[in-house]
Amino acid sequence: MSWMCSGKTNAELVANLMKDSSRIIPSGSRVGPAMERVDRANYVADRSWSDSRKTRALAEAYNDSPQSIGYDATISAPHMHAYAAQYLLPYLRLGAKVLDVGSGSGYLVAVFHHLVSSEGKLGTVVGIEHVPELVQFSVENLKKDGLGKALEDKRIEMIVGDGRQGYPSGGPYDAIHVGAAAPRLPQLLVDQLASPGCMFIPVGEHIQQILQVKKDADGKVTQTQLMGVRYVPLTDRKTF
Ligand code: SAH
Repeated sequence: MSWMCSGKTNAELVANLMKDSSRIIPSGSRVGPAMERVDRANYVADRSWSDSRKTRALAEAYNDSPQSIGYDATISAPHMHAYAAQYLLPYLRLGAKVLDVGSGSGYLVAVFHHLVSSEGKLGTVVGIEHVPELVQFSVENLKKDGLGKALEDKRIEMIVGDGRQGYPSGGPYDAIHVGAAAPRLPQLLVDQLASPGCMFIPVGEHIQQILQVKKDADGKVTQTQLMGVRYVPLTDRKTF
């Protein structure tokens, strides 16, 4: 069960997500090792916070629950990150192009990076987020987590912008992850999916469902409802 996946360390958290009883990450999946390489503690606290706030955030880093990162945003629960990576996995081959909309802490960008890039074959991951302070936060987090070179080499790009428009110049994308709920499926994002390509997106205003949207090699688009969820909405930008 997802709420039972918390751990005392990053390794224990990921091991719990891989247990037969949770069935979130199947054994042998590449998602497990990728999540092991991303230490969630590097994505939950900003250096500008007070010491007590940082200590509280770090104490909860390996809990299987969402955590506030300020600016009305949360870093999603580990089991939702695991589901997203797992559902997109067939499209996250080495060398793939990935877009993460509402990239917040940068955590999932890091997981996607490890899935699409290895020494021989390099993919690209673009994170787009409309709060500039969170983009700055995510860049610092990625650097703390050892991904400074991937940023320098543009294997990872973090962009300030309205994710509902996508980021056409980086596409078309083999995989698109949307980390905030859209009232309807945004056609501009469907247009930026490669053929074949796949999107994981929460859709709905009051009742939200994760949709898995697939575009096949001929450009035909199909949708499957995966599960009911509660995400923060994809919105116009507020100033903080
Ligand atoms: N997946 C991320 C963040 C999830 S919270 C993580 O786990 O860290 C959702 C994020 O979507 C927030 O950071 C919010 O600022 C962002 N967001 C909301 N509307 C947006 C929009 N129109 N364009 C880009 N980002 C948006």
